[in-house]
Amino acid sequence: MNLLTEILDFFLPRVCPGCGNRLTVDEDTVCPKCIDKIKLASPERLCREFERKFQGKNIISGFTSLYVFEEGKEFQNIVHALKYNGRFSIGTFLGEQLGKTLLNMAFDWKINIIIPIPLHQLKKAERGYNQSFYIAKGIGKILNTPVKQNLVKRKKFTQTQTTMNLKEREENMRDAFIIKNSNELLDKNILLIDDVITTGATISECGRILLNAGANRIYAASTAIAD
Ligand SMILES: [Zn+2]
Repeated sequence: MNLLTEILDFFLPRVCPGCGNRLTVDEDTVCPKCIDKIKLASPERLCREFERKFQGKNIISGFTSLYVFEEGKEFQNIVHALKYNGRFSIGTFLGEQLGKTLLNMAFDWKINIIIPIPLHQLKKAERGYNQSFYIAKGIGKILNTPVKQNLVKRKKFTQTQTTMNLKEREENMRDAFIIKNSNELLDKNILLIDDVITTGATISECGRILLNAGANRIYAASTAIAD
């Protein structure tokens, strides 16, 4: 941390989005106490989630996630601040953490492009930004891989899916996306990024149209998995 951070901290104290406590000059975005408390997604859990969400559909070739989303815990506060309080730099921070865990896999996956799941333009206008773009940016920095956000667009405005089951979500997501530039996708291995993956319906639908447009393989990563 530099002098500018110290001066800014004095006038505009930075707070941890997980617990609301002030960050010290040495702390970056989320305090170490909160980082320690967030439940990590174990390899066994990731295996189970892959089977449950993606296996058999032949769309997503590999998937990983950093944390487990738990109601009322630190990570929920962090994602809330990222999505609704304008704190998009949290996305880059989480993306960098996720990027470090992706380093090994990305080598096997041979990722050419990172694509954040697009938001509908109305939702983006309301929020001011796509939180997944910032997560993708953090990952791109670690993996040294380009992030492209203009190759696929969300054409369908979908209501919040929190009360829907998997079948309803799949129905709701059908034809939600449209390809904007298929030349750039041709034969590419793509890493799709979402903030939190729940049923996987959004990722699967986006992956499906990317494959239809000529992409080679689709992988997926999110900061957390939720039930
Ligand atoms: Zn904290």
